[in-house]
Amino acid sequence: MTGKMNWGSVRDRDRIARQGADSVADVGLAGGMAPPKKRPGKAALRADLAAAQAKITRTIKCVCGHEGTAIVPASKARARLRCSRCGEVTT
Ligand SMILES: [Zn+2]
Repeated sequence: MTGKMNWGSVRDRDRIARQGADSVADVGLAGGMAPPKKRPGKAALRADLAAAQAKITRTIKCVCGHEGTAIVPASKARARLRCSRCGEVTT
């Protein structure tokens, strides 16, 4: 044999022959250990970010008669805002 030896796969083969190839999922975890968390994919992370950053336009009417529109994050859709004319808190 004259080619290069792939020592990594040789080691893996030896280790699997010596120790077996049972996965943690089959054997079960030792007491008190939490199963490994599945990492969210990039698409899921991007979707979460887009949802968090999405802006909505709210029209706010105040008791003083002032009316205005505000572009706020979706998380502030139900937030109480303050009137820019009189300073009253509106709903
Ligand atoms: Zn007002």
